[in-house]
Amino acid sequence: MNIIPIKLERATAPRTTKIVEWRLSNVCNFNCSFCPNEFKDGSKRPLSLENYIKIVDNLIDQSNGKNVWFQFSGGEPTLYPKLIELLSHIKNRGGYTSLLSNGSRTLRFWQDLADKNVLNRLFLSYHPEQENSPNHIIAVNEIMQKTDTLVTMFVTTQTDPSLFQKALAGHLKILAEATAISTLKVIGETSTSIQPYSKDQLSIIQNNLYVRSPKWKLQSPEKFNSMKSIPYYDSEMILEFSDGSKRKNSAQEFVNHGLTQFKDWECDVGKDLMIIEIDEVFRSVCRQGGPIFKNLEEDVSWMTDSIICQKENCNCSLDVQEPKRKINT
Ligand code: SF4
Ligand code: SF4
Repeated sequence: MNIIPIKLERATAPRTTKIVEWRLSNVCNFNCSFCPNEFKDGSKRPLSLENYIKIVDNLIDQSNGKNVWFQFSGGEPTLYPKLIELLSHIKNRGGYTSLLSNGSRTLRFWQDLADKNVLNRLFLSYHPEQENSPNHIIAVNEIMQKTDTLVTMFVTTQTDPSLFQKALAGHLKILAEATAISTLKVIGETSTSIQPYSKDQLSIIQNNLYVRSPKWKLQSPEKFNSMKSIPYYDSEMILEFSDGSKRKNSAQEFVNHGLTQFKDWECDVGKDLMIIEIDEVFRSVCRQGGPIFKNLEEDVSWMTDSIICQKENCNCSLDVQEPKRKINT
């Protein structure tokens, strides 16, 4: 008998969190060579704070008591002048906040954000192609480490040998000087393949993933306790096969092992995951089913129905985290 996958479910069910991935604009003050123009050409601006607050309120009001995570990116999301007000509103409403940033705003901006203590998660990227030294981003990290925010530093690598060395030197400097979790990051050539790194480069990257610096390990127990109280979303999934056997992995591991072909499956994207792409809303990163809201003036809300997948490969770990099942078996 041909044994095939038939169902993908969350390892911890029911899920207690909903996730909104929110790209505020494509305005950026950097010009990374690997970044597509659509992410940085400034053609799409953010909307008003009032508009965003209405959406946040709708999504929290309709979450059926689940925790709602709002993760902001861009462009560079810290260039949105009302960002701190938006994060503060989400926290006041009981939501959770996360930010992907190049860290380039002034230390005064970061101190203002730290003083409000309204950020649960921060992913700070150091792009060696854009900045000669990580000194500024190390200073930003040290400010944010004094808050309840869990910070991870991403150091972007590129295959060009001098840029690769610069990235590695930056990562090692961060680990030597900062209270940091730092990781080397591979860069994609297309949305589905990474740049052609050499074997040595890949091995160095593999040995430098999510490294905790000596100073980070000395952080006070209070910080760890405050981090433990946050309901971080869990990406563990269980894949069930037609013979009744099951395999448990993180969503990313299922992607890495090529076990994410769900064409013609019924998929629950849109129920607990939403992608706001500046002025349009999708169920998921894969954009299957097309936009569910074509502008942000509409009453943006969670989906209650499932869709039939038309895509050969489900290759984003966020998308893989949504339950799905083979139909007509
Ligand atoms: S900082 Fe981010 S958004 Fe800006 S150009 Fe670089 S990769 Fe693109
Ligand atoms: S590609 Fe999209 S629709 Fe298809 S299974 Fe993945 S998340 Fe669901």
